[in-house]
Amino acid sequence: MISASAPGKLNLFFEVGGLRPDGYHPVVSVYQSLAIRQRVAVEQNDYWHVITEGDLPKSQLDLVPTDEENLVVKAALALAEHCGISNPQKMRFHTYKQVPVAAGLAGGSADAAAALLALNQAWGTGLESKELTKVAAKVGSDVPFSLLGGTALGVDTGIDLEVLPQAKEHHVVLLVSPIGLGTGSVFKKFDELFPEGDMTLSATQVKQQLADGTLQLGRNSLTAPALELRPELASYFELAPGMKGNMTGSGPTVYFLTEEAAAAEELTATLRQQGHFVILTSFGTEGAKLD
Ligand code: ATP
Repeated sequence: MISASAPGKLNLFFEVGGLRPDGYHPVVSVYQSLAIRQRVAVEQNDYWHVITEGDLPKSQLDLVPTDEENLVVKAALALAEHCGISNPQKMRFHTYKQVPVAAGLAGGSADAAAALLALNQAWGTGLESKELTKVAAKVGSDVPFSLLGGTALGVDTGIDLEVLPQAKEHHVVLLVSPIGLGTGSVFKKFDELFPEGDMTLSATQVKQQLADGTLQLGRNSLTAPALELRPELASYFELAPGMKGNMTGSGPTVYFLTEEAAAAEELTATLRQQGHFVILTSFGTEGAKLD
């Protein structure tokens, strides 16, 4: 079976502008891929079907659609449309997830990116990465970055990417809320709180500040709306003595970064003892790739 994998991501910096007439929000995002990855294998089938397994609790896996609602099928249909295939071969997808669901870590987007790569091979559509990125952007704002990986600056809705120098290696402790948070509801709350948007820096300023070390890493315009919706998450930020917690994407995952492996392991053990769902990972360098 042809299979491919793609990484989860963090937003190390995420500013969001006011709602545009086209219904999208402009963003300036510093994306960082993670070592945790989704794997998607594809085979021919009589109907669209997605089987999901993974290193996640069953309650998480049960949230993932098994039919056309799944992003891997949406990716397949977008690829077919882009290539002018009117009656695409239906497929079964075997998805193996390491990235939690509805967590702000682009788990579904990584599935979609891996599916695009696997289908591009299985269907013989042979798109080059530039064309595949165009298809990815139609599937979702985070899918182009899931293809690319590494460290990148995203502008427009996040789909317009510029490769940045790979960030220094960090260990990442992900504190995952047992209850996910829908991206749409967070953006809706954002519009109420910030009708004019919350953009303070241009993309050029972000790059400059990142290069000279003055960028306020962890800043995220969606933290305030996510906390309005889920006030209990505020306590998550304070759970690691001496380490600042930050939210990724539309939350609810809170992450802690450290260069010290021992500190990351100790924090992970402590939080698990307290009953939290925690994933210990690190920055990753690779985007989507065929297995
Ligand atoms: P992002 O960071 O890309 O906005 P996320 O990581 O917060 O996304 P996802 O894991 O992509 O969130 O899931 C969001 C919702 O999308 C889920 O609750 C689920 O109903 C739906 N969904 C569709 N396809 C998938 C998929 N392949 N994996 C996970 N969820 C999916």
